[in-house]
Amino acid sequence: MAVTRAAIADGAGAFVIDDIDVSPPRDDEVLVEIRAAGICHTDHASLWWTRPLVMGHEGAGVVREIGSGVSHVLPGDAVVLNWCIPCGECFQCRRGETVLCERSRPAHVMERSSGHAHAEGTRWRGRPIDRSFNIGTLSGLTLVRKEAVTRIPDGVPFPVAAITGCGVITGVGSALNVAHVQPGESVAVLGCGGVGLNVIQGARLAGTSTIIAIDSNPAALARARQFGATHAVLAARLDNGEELDMTATVRALTSGRGADYAFEATSVPGLAFKPLQLVRDGGMALQLSGINDMVQVPMPWFMWNKRYVTPLYGGCVPARDFPRIFGHYLDGTLQLDALVTRTYRLEQLGEALDDMLEGRNAKGVIVMPDA
Ligand SMILES: [Zn+2]
Ligand SMILES: [Zn+2]
Repeated sequence: MAVTRAAIADGAGAFVIDDIDVSPPRDDEVLVEIRAAGICHTDHASLWWTRPLVMGHEGAGVVREIGSGVSHVLPGDAVVLNWCIPCGECFQCRRGETVLCERSRPAHVMERSSGHAHAEGTRWRGRPIDRSFNIGTLSGLTLVRKEAVTRIPDGVPFPVAAITGCGVITGVGSALNVAHVQPGESVAVLGCGGVGLNVIQGARLAGTSTIIAIDSNPAALARARQFGATHAVLAARLDNGEELDMTATVRALTSGRGADYAFEATSVPGLAFKPLQLVRDGGMALQLSGINDMVQVPMPWFMWNKRYVTPLYGGCVPARDFPRIFGHYLDGTLQLDALVTRTYRLEQLGEALDDMLEGRNAKGVIVMPDA
């Protein structure tokens, strides 16, 4: 048993920084010393998940110990953690849709019976405690299933590696793995925060010729251009109160037809179906912000032959996608340093959450000292 500091959500809207006990790894587990953990809105939401929980679902660190059944990493290896953890054996894993693994469902994190939680290996105040998304990265040590770690090559700083495990893989993966955007095609991206900027980067990597960034914030549009957008459209209200017609603007930029793909990354429920209006007949609309609200949509928006997809975790296959992302980072074709606006110590988690809620950072990252 090792003792470490961790951020514990109380399930009722607050958190404490406290000691937890972490067991040695079982056969199929890896014990990781966390060095950096990204913060996103999900962490703030996790404060209300009705039970005590080790917070954090983005992280990178160093392997301290491995179970007897682990061979793909060794103690001392730098690793990134993934919160979609495939089992490799279920119906969905066998057909290659590992993000839809039936034995490890991050979409169901609020259910206690989420299969592989292994909560008994982590204890707080003498009792087993779950870890957010089964990885709980806001902690000096985390005990995870072996499928939750992938090696990081030399030259990738921990804060950069940490953010690849959530917003980067969601954005880049949705463009490359789910939409399969092709050279010469056109893409519209509604919302240019952390996920939207990475859709833009993914589209750029794919050789897309037209990348239309749409946001109501001029600063976000300026960033979008730096990350590869070819056009920037300010979503704005006109003096007469009317909404600027972004559909007409996108059509004008795409031979009057609409984009081949349109991605929504705003988290605004009223915009959930907007991508349908931005794509051509037969085009693909993707809603990336996991909107849970009741939303109405006029059925003609689906006409004709338009597809509407809600991708999970960018269709990520960790062993394939993380090496690819780190390769693009190391050869300079994927900008990740610019996404890490500020780093904090674990004791500053409250400040980091406040800064996120106020929109002060592209991304805040908690860094931990070497153990
Ligand atoms: Zn599975
Ligand atoms: Zn996240």
